[in-house]
Amino acid sequence: MAQDSGEGGLDPENWEDFRAAAHALLDRCIDRLAAGRAKPWQPVPEKVVRRYALDPDGPGRGETAAAVRLADEILPHGNGNTHPRFFGWVHGTGLATGILSEMVAATMNANCGGRDHGAIHVERAVIDWTRRVMGFPDGASGVLVTGTSQATVIALAAARVAALGPESRAAGTRGAPLVAYAGAGVHNAAVKAMELLGLGHDALRRIPEDARGLSAGALATAVTRDRAAGLHPFAVIATAGSVDLGRFDDLAALADLATDLGLWLHVDGAFGAWTRLADPPWRALSDGIGRADSLACDFHKWMYVPYDCGIVLIRDAERHRAAFAARPAYLAAQQAGLGGGEPWFCDYGIDLSRGNRALKVWTAIEAYGPDRLGAAITRNCALAARMGAAVAARPGMRLAAPVVSCLCVFTADAGRDPAAQSALNARIATELQLSGEAVFSTTVIDGVTCLRAAITNHRTTAEDVDAAIAAVARARDRS
Ligand SMILES: *Cc1c(COP(=O)(O)O)cnc(C)c1O
Repeated sequence: MAQDSGEGGLDPENWEDFRAAAHALLDRCIDRLAAGRAKPWQPVPEKVVRRYALDPDGPGRGETAAAVRLADEILPHGNGNTHPRFFGWVHGTGLATGILSEMVAATMNANCGGRDHGAIHVERAVIDWTRRVMGFPDGASGVLVTGTSQATVIALAAARVAALGPESRAAGTRGAPLVAYAGAGVHNAAVKAMELLGLGHDALRRIPEDARGLSAGALATAVTRDRAAGLHPFAVIATAGSVDLGRFDDLAALADLATDLGLWLHVDGAFGAWTRLADPPWRALSDGIGRADSLACDFHKWMYVPYDCGIVLIRDAERHRAAFAARPAYLAAQQAGLGGGEPWFCDYGIDLSRGNRALKVWTAIEAYGPDRLGAAITRNCALAARMGAAVAARPGMRLAAPVVSCLCVFTADAGRDPAAQSALNARIATELQLSGEAVFSTTVIDGVTCLRAAITNHRTTAEDVDAAIAAVARARDRS
């Protein structure tokens, strides 16, 4: 039924025209996703970028005109991570269900800071599902966030209040010499979190790694030394899936040690936490993850959910609230009505106003279930292993490190000196990105810039992996 938009309002003047434009746009979105294999990343033409500029004095042209521009000028110029040969960085690749859930989320326009409404119950269901997948206890709490970077800040803020007491929220740290520990390959998100929390990144000690990741012996030694020096060790940050090489710390051993040393155990499981859904042998990589005091991970990477969405889980909900709960009078909860519905998510994180991030996760789980999502993760690990074998089988190519999960890092020609290898690998990455044959990123391992494939892509097939390695060999042999 057409409905009057009301004087001065911003609803469509004619709902039937809007419906037609929206249906046409939906078709274009579905066409784009269905034809993904034919559409690798390409640079955005400059004339298109220029047309994106918005005129401060210009008139609005209406919803139909906007919808046409979305389809023609915006939609084609993505990140390329919907393409089956996108292996650059640890990027999620999106799901068709995202089209459905984002449409509904925008229509509902729920503010998930709190109150009593459907989107809140959906978020609670997503948190509870994740809690059980990760093996966290019943009393654990969680909140959906932008991603692991924000989740890390929230987790370490809770650890800081646990270490210094709730009065530190008023008094600040008063120069308390808090120190945290992590393996040498820890992600920059932990560094940033230490800075943002006012602890400084010098207070994040890098512990050497051995074959099983962060060395437990070296950790114990460092903590003893720091305590003797009058410092206040408070947290250890374990990594489940390192960003460079996909390695996992021994989470069960670190959980034992953190208990002995009286440290908060935080796990950065940005992508690797989801090996909980994989088949053996990959599932075992994250054994012990449920013993952490806090866990940060992403739905937008290895759960393939559209950007952005991550989660922080905290083992003890009271400690979580102790760091964040605070509601002024105008937000006080009611017993019943829209203002009811305890707990409110604004008491568990940074944001007061919050979008409905949970719906895209809920829809993915509803559509695919842990079995199909887990099978995709298992297949990604198997494809990374296949790529590793393909590299090992090609004369000249060499792996920089064994493939453990979904990352394969290698040099295209181990016969050249390190500087020449670095130049070659960087050139190959650029050439293949520009040609649309495959997207690799690069990283530096032992002083050599290597090609890096992160296979967190449910669209990738064995043929894609083989074709990508063949393309690397061709690009190498052109020089
Ligand atoms: C991606 C990543 C992060 C940061 O997560 P965002 O979702 O990008 O904020 C942290 N740690 C690891 C291991 C990652 O791969």
